[in-house]
Amino acid sequence: MTRLQITLSLMLLAFNSSVFADEPPKFAIAIHGGAGSAPSSEEWRKNRTEVLEKALSTGEQMLKSGKSSLDTVEAVVRILEDSPYFNAGRGAVFNAAGTHELDATIMDGRDRSTGAVGGVTTVKNPVSLARRVMTETRHVLLATAGAEKFADEFADDPEIERVPNTYFSIEHRRRKLEKTQREQKQRDEDAMGTVGCVALDTHGNLAAATSTGGLNNKKFGRLGDSPIAGAGTYADNDTCAVSCTGIGEDFIRNAVAYDITARMAYRGDSADKATLDILSAEQHLVRGGIIVVTHDGKIVMRFNTEGMARAAADSQERHEVHLTD
Ligand code: ASP
Repeated sequence: MTRLQITLSLMLLAFNSSVFADEPPKFAIAIHGGAGSAPSSEEWRKNRTEVLEKALSTGEQMLKSGKSSLDTVEAVVRILEDSPYFNAGRGAVFNAAGTHELDATIMDGRDRSTGAVGGVTTVKNPVSLARRVMTETRHVLLATAGAEKFADEFADDPEIERVPNTYFSIEHRRRKLEKTQREQKQRDEDAMGTVGCVALDTHGNLAAATSTGGLNNKKFGRLGDSPIAGAGTYADNDTCAVSCTGIGEDFIRNAVAYDITARMAYRGDSADKATLDILSAEQHLVRGGIIVVTHDGKIVMRFNTEGMARAAADSQERHEVHLTD
């Protein structure tokens, strides 16, 4: 190399690194508000869109200001849990016994630590109790009466608010239960409205959270995929963060959330290919939707149901909310 070539190379290197130095740190966030059919009423469409927009903007701002993906997914899911228009928290569906049992998981991609609650009945924001299971116990999943007793330990913690089970009883949901029981027929829409969030923060860490009331008219005591790490939720900094929605039994049988990370790690599949292959498999049916954020900030949102409420944003100015297809 001549002296001139060396000087030019050094200048190019300096230019490139200054370009990279000016690039904003990478972040990405995806949210789902459940797979299934679109809500038929204008009121529901309008409110769902507004809440999704609020959840997305909150998450986007948190990530932009350097907050962790773990704090972000929890905060986003809490917003969706507080809305009656999603099947999580306040808007949780009815089980066959006419009550509400809620499931949630949170997972930290840094070390695969995870916490979950299943079948809780008086916890306003199950995702925050799931986080306490992760940070305050040596366990991964607490269910039913044991989870309620664990919640009692946080009587002074405003994030672990308790409510009567009737707090979750929305008239619209009651009508849906009665219709299903009358017709003795489960429908696609019976799985509509579960919420989930996956995020990559500016420190390069991934996290995922999912929260649900489960399936409309589900058997008393039934747990779905949402409180099962590896089925409905997963996060690993080496690959991606995943949150699922749909017929939970399909997602448990096929270990869907983990399978996506495994296909990426062992086969070198892209997140998009892994997700598409799982949702289009004919032999092992998986009915629902999946959102993914990868370690390098790619977002995948796919579903094989009629629709999936979803939203996404990233550091490249992407910002979008879709109610259905
Ligand atoms: N996957 C949830 C469950 O089976 C339901 C849903 O996603 O709507 O509990």
